[in-house]
Amino acid sequence: MLTPDRARILDSDDPGLGHEFVLADGLVYLDGNSLGALARHVPERMSTVVRGEWGEGLIGSWNTADWVGLAARVGDRIGRIIGAGPGTVSVGDSTSVNLYKAASAAMELATGPHVLLTDDANFPSDGYVLSTLAERSGWELRTVAAGDIVTELASGVGVLSITQVDYRTGDRHDLIATTAAAREAGVVTVWDLAHSAGAFDVAVARSGADFAVGCGYKYLNGGPGAPGFLYAAPHVHAGMRNPITGWFGHRRPFDFASGFEPATGIERMRVGTSPILGLAALDAALDVFDRVVLDDLWARGVRLVDHLLEGFGELGLDVVTPVDAASRGSQVSFRHPDAYAIVQALIDRDVVGDFRTPDVARFGVAALYVDFEDIAVALERLRAVLAADLSGYRPRRGPVT
Ligand SMILES: *Cc1c(COP(=O)(O)O)cnc(C)c1O
Repeated sequence: MLTPDRARILDSDDPGLGHEFVLADGLVYLDGNSLGALARHVPERMSTVVRGEWGEGLIGSWNTADWVGLAARVGDRIGRIIGAGPGTVSVGDSTSVNLYKAASAAMELATGPHVLLTDDANFPSDGYVLSTLAERSGWELRTVAAGDIVTELASGVGVLSITQVDYRTGDRHDLIATTAAAREAGVVTVWDLAHSAGAFDVAVARSGADFAVGCGYKYLNGGPGAPGFLYAAPHVHAGMRNPITGWFGHRRPFDFASGFEPATGIERMRVGTSPILGLAALDAALDVFDRVVLDDLWARGVRLVDHLLEGFGELGLDVVTPVDAASRGSQVSFRHPDAYAIVQALIDRDVVGDFRTPDVARFGVAALYVDFEDIAVALERLRAVLAADLSGYRPRRGPVT
C-alpha cells in the first residue's frame, strides 16, 4: 500500500496543481467529480465581475465587458477541453435541460425506428428526461444493460443516449467504438460527458458523435450549479431544432420580431439570457486547464487511481471500478454493506468521498489538485475506519442524488 513517505517522493516527481486551489490543510477531497474545488483566483475574478461589471457598469457591461460574447467564448474553451472545434459548444442551462434539448433534436433528425436506446446504468435525471421525451413523442424508450448497447444498436434504433462514464462504478463506454457502431447502424448519438469532461481527452469531434452534453461543476470546477454545455457536430447544425425556442436562440434576438427564426449554427441551441455570474466563475475556473496538457493530466490521474484501487484491493474491498484505465473514468468505487457508514466516518476524518445508493462508496480523483499524499492518507484513514466500530453511523433513508 502507498505509504505517505513514498507518496511524498511521487509528489515531488509528478506535482499537481493543488496549490492553485482553495483546499484546507489536511483535507483529502475525493469528491471533485461531484463538485469541483475552487481555484484560488476565482473569488477575485468574481469580485471584479460583481462589483465592477455589474455594480458599476450595470447594463452597459453587456457590451463594455462583452457579456454578450461570454457564452460563446466559454463554449469554445470547453470545446478545446472535450476535443470540439470552435462554434460547436453552447454553454448555459443545466445538464438535464441540455440533454432534453439535444435528445429532442436528435429524435427529430433520426431516420431509424422510433426507439430511444439507453442503458440501466445511466444517471437517473437522464433517465427521467429521456422517458418524458419518449412518452411525448410516442417513441419507445429501450433500456438495456450497459454491456449490451453495441449489440442492441443493430436491432432497430433511432437515437442512442447514454452517459460515457457510469457515475457509480466509473465504468467507461468506448466513445469512439460505440459511436462508430451507431453511425454504421444509422443511429443518431447523444452522449452525456458529465463525468468525462475535464478528466480525460474525450475527442468528441473525432468520435463522430452527433450531440453531447455535460456538466460545468464537476471536473471543470465551475462552482455549484455552474452552467452545463451542449455540443452539436457541424454536420447536424443546419437540421437541428431546439425544442425550447427562446429569444437567445433567435437569429436576431434584439430585433424583437414576432416570429421565431432560428440562429445559424450552435447559437440556436441557446434559450434565454446567459447566467453571467455562473459563466464568469466557470470561465475563470477554466484558466487552470490552459496550463495542462489533458493527456498528461489523465496519465497523472491514472497513476493516482491505480494506487487507490490497489490499496482498496489490499484492504479486501469489493472494488467495482475497472482495473484497465482505458475502461474507466477518474474515480474508484467499492461496494460494501456498510458503505454509507464508511463514507460518513471518512468525512469525519477529513476524507471526503461519496455514498451512492444502495451500497457504493465512491471516490473521485481530480488529477488537477489531488496528489499522491492524499491517496496515502485516504488509505491510512480508511484502514482505521474499517477497523472501527461504525454502529453510530445510521444509514440515510431514501434516495440520494
Ligand atoms: C451530474 C450529472 C448530471 C447533472 O445534471 P444537472 O441537470 O446539471 O443537475 C446529469 N447527468 C449526469 C450523467 C451527471 O453525472
